[in-house]
Amino acid sequence: MINLRQLPPVDEILAEERVQNLLQTYRHDFVIANVRLAVDAVRNEIRNRDEEIDRKAITAIILDRLELFIKNKAAGTLRRVVNGTGVILHTNLGRAPLGARALQQVMDMGSGYCNLEFDLENGERGSRYKHVEDLLIELTGAEAALVVNNNAAAVLLGLNTLAADREVIVSRGQLVEIGGAFRIPEVMQQSGAHLVEVGTTNRTYINDFAQAINSETALLFLAHPSNYKILGFTTEVKLAEMVRLGQQHGLPVMEDLGSGVIYNLEKWGLAEEHVVRDCVAAGADIITFSGDKLLGGPQAGIIVGKKKLIAAMKKNQLTRALRVDKLTIAALEGTLLEYLEVNPEENIPVLQMLTISAEELKLRARELAELLQNTIASLPLILDIAVVEVEDVVGGGTYPTLKLPGYAIEITFADNKLEYITKQLRRQNPALLSRKQEGRMLISVRTLLPGDDILLVRLLRQVAGETALIANPLTNGEK
Ligand SMILES: *Cc1c(COP(=O)(O)O)cnc(C)c1O
Repeated sequence: MINLRQLPPVDEILAEERVQNLLQTYRHDFVIANVRLAVDAVRNEIRNRDEEIDRKAITAIILDRLELFIKNKAAGTLRRVVNGTGVILHTNLGRAPLGARALQQVMDMGSGYCNLEFDLENGERGSRYKHVEDLLIELTGAEAALVVNNNAAAVLLGLNTLAADREVIVSRGQLVEIGGAFRIPEVMQQSGAHLVEVGTTNRTYINDFAQAINSETALLFLAHPSNYKILGFTTEVKLAEMVRLGQQHGLPVMEDLGSGVIYNLEKWGLAEEHVVRDCVAAGADIITFSGDKLLGGPQAGIIVGKKKLIAAMKKNQLTRALRVDKLTIAALEGTLLEYLEVNPEENIPVLQMLTISAEELKLRARELAELLQNTIASLPLILDIAVVEVEDVVGGGTYPTLKLPGYAIEITFADNKLEYITKQLRRQNPALLSRKQEGRMLISVRTLLPGDDILLVRLLRQVAGETALIANPLTNGEK
């Protein structure tokens, strides 16, 4: 208890040179608030200590805390993550990493002014949607296109525009929930459309839809069951059948593709996801998909389809609330431009990771293993570094059952340190996320990006090195 009397008042701490240095850079109120937090933290720490600590020592501890608090807060909380999980479209890690052209566009348009809503030809007001609309028309064969904040917004806008206060018919097999609490029935409710469920979980026929049509029906709806697969005794209505039925009754057909690819991945045995152009050709009136799933661009909801329907959506007040900013448009344009060229899989990171061969991955894993052997294998905590076969996944609710044969670096740590080291690696900047298997760390090479190998060496050296230095009591306590 005696120590508490030694706690210096805030004024006295503010006069310290180290605080004065902080005040050169940081706001006064921000520094003061953190001085208080540091004093509180140290008060709690020393309250129960028996040994006497003098005022000077306490002040030094407070200043250490203060500098740490401010350093951490001033660094923000967003961190680059080295993705060793082998999940390509990891929703929690920001889905698609952007390609070079998309990033360049973001830099160019974000750092200055641009013709976002200005028609440079005529010198008058233009449309922000025009930039990517023409490209999307070119790439999908659709009559018109519109881009909103994300695919959830695209579905909401589509339903609200085409079916508010009226009925939308959906198969019970497609009332899906996508990660992040996107549920078709709930989005439907938000949109003001009335859901009419037909068929059963595993089998729905075109006749189920036909029988449900009445004077209140506004729309026939298909959702791509992106993150699961019903296997066995199943029937789902084909888009072409639905289009035929819609045409007989003068009803539009809307398909929520979820991922939706613009470029046929059949060559790599990845034909499962629908190609947007094929859905357009099959007659879907409205198709929605994400910008940051297999397309490999920024978060966005892309709507393509019939001109008349898209025009109605553009007029909907909701569009203003769901609109995308210039950075999204810049990144999306940069991504879509890659698709005008042959072999977009060479320049779009998501497609690179998806189409890379197992042979190439093996080669990369061997090179990385060798690099790690030469740099960190001698650290006392590292018992073994090896190359092993793994199965990677696409993620982001895409190709739910597909396993991609890949390779990983497998690291065996001494002394049961795996958990501790895994946690410390997550706390670095950049952070490293890995997988584990049978008490060993796995770092899948598929999802590593250029330059990540050097980062890996640095991170592992730092964390495994530090962990070896800290005496066991603390590491045991941290576990
Ligand atoms: C992912 C997905 C969505 C949601 O898309 P976001 O871009 O994440 O908003 C909607 N529907 C389906 C079928 C999806 O796969």
